[in-house]
Amino acid sequence: MFENLSERLERSFKILKGEGKITEINVAETLKDVRRALLDADVNYKVAKSFTDSVKQKAMGMNVLTAVKPSQLMVKIVHDELAELMGGKAVELTLENRPAIVLMSGLQGSGKTTFSGKLANMLKNKQHKNPLLVACDVYRPAAIQQLHVVGESVGVPVYSEPDNKNVVEIANNAIREAKAKNYNVVIIDTAGRLAVDEEMMNEIATLKEAVNPDETLFVVDAMTGQDAVNTAKEFNDRLDFDGVVLTKLDGDTRGGAALSIRTVVTKPIKFVGTGEKMEAIDVFHPDRMADRILGMGDIVSLVERAQEQFDEKQAKELEKKIRKNKFDFNDFMSQIQQIKKMGNIKDLAAMIPGVGKAIKDVDIDDNAFKGVEAIIQSMTPKERANPDIINQSRRQRIAKGSGSKIEDVNRLLKQFEQTRKVMKMMTGGNSSKMMQMANA
Ligand code: GDP
Repeated sequence: MFENLSERLERSFKILKGEGKITEINVAETLKDVRRALLDADVNYKVAKSFTDSVKQKAMGMNVLTAVKPSQLMVKIVHDELAELMGGKAVELTLENRPAIVLMSGLQGSGKTTFSGKLANMLKNKQHKNPLLVACDVYRPAAIQQLHVVGESVGVPVYSEPDNKNVVEIANNAIREAKAKNYNVVIIDTAGRLAVDEEMMNEIATLKEAVNPDETLFVVDAMTGQDAVNTAKEFNDRLDFDGVVLTKLDGDTRGGAALSIRTVVTKPIKFVGTGEKMEAIDVFHPDRMADRILGMGDIVSLVERAQEQFDEKQAKELEKKIRKNKFDFNDFMSQIQQIKKMGNIKDLAAMIPGVGKAIKDVDIDDNAFKGVEAIIQSMTPKERANPDIINQSRRQRIAKGSGSKIEDVNRLLKQFEQTRKVMKMMTGGNSSKMMQMANA
């Protein structure tokens, strides 16, 4: 699922690769691409527009002085917006009444019967409920039979009255039976039509009124894209349902319905169906889905960690020092500490797409900085603050003290000097570049 969208979004972010900072221009370009990707994923155009507007606003308002690259920051902003677009937090079923009543609604073929079985199975196994399935699709004898087959496969009893066409009566009888036999959840499967029609809407609305369900769920085939969203709107206008079940997400590589439905009907997606088997049901978690869409969940956590650890005040101080060419080994050391705080270096590096595989067999570990740290620690405070005084004899002393070779000390000093030069160049009068450079 979402493969196309994932690929497209990844390409959009590439526009920002190599950019030093987020500007009006490069954001606009990226977002144009993001919007196109969303439209191609069959996302409603109004939803796509408000999505990119909101991402733009966040990106422009974001302090540039952060320990991450603009392209990574953009991934994070888009990720959070995607999660928000899909509802933010997961919303569970409220099943408090005894018995709790769940009413299914949706078009024929959307997957109501299958989902009824999946839900019963999940409630039984994961929440130790004692569910009863009820067949209220009275128009097609095959439908009643299908529910019996599904019920049998998950070991949940099915209530049906094959000769009765009055769905309200059947539902009420089932609820009475549930009370008598201590079933605590009643799942009512209903009839759908191939398209929205008045008769079907009336029937389901009447049924809803009669049984007063704890949860009315609208089941819809994700593969129908924009149609799914339109149908959701029609059902919601009439039924004011509580949640959406998106089925056949396994077959939907575009994902437009998942992304648009919440905005259009302002009701949460509660479950997704990802296959024909009874186990193929997932509680819908917007943030996890956003991870999946971007296929870059790792970058998102990298940015989060960096944002948690990064000290803006310290960075500003540092920048001042660099501009005055006062960057010294104390600062260098604290930079190393900051990077180390962000976690295992190999883990961090592996989070960058494309890098993970490349460094699989390379030996980078948290000890990577050990040699450097030892050398700096062997410097006197005076030397750390004034690296320029470190002459040949001091170098020899430092090498000895840190247990390293004189070449290592020389190399570090040379690197330090180069870094200092580049830093100075990059900050020359212009603010907020320091960390981008450090990350370049
Ligand atoms: P109903 O008419 O709304 O009750 O729909 P059904 O439950 O009979 O489902 C219609 C078809 O979709 C059946 O062939 C199901 O096996 C299939 N189906 C239902 N949910 C899913 C799903 O999540 N993934 C896939 N691939 N197929 C599904």
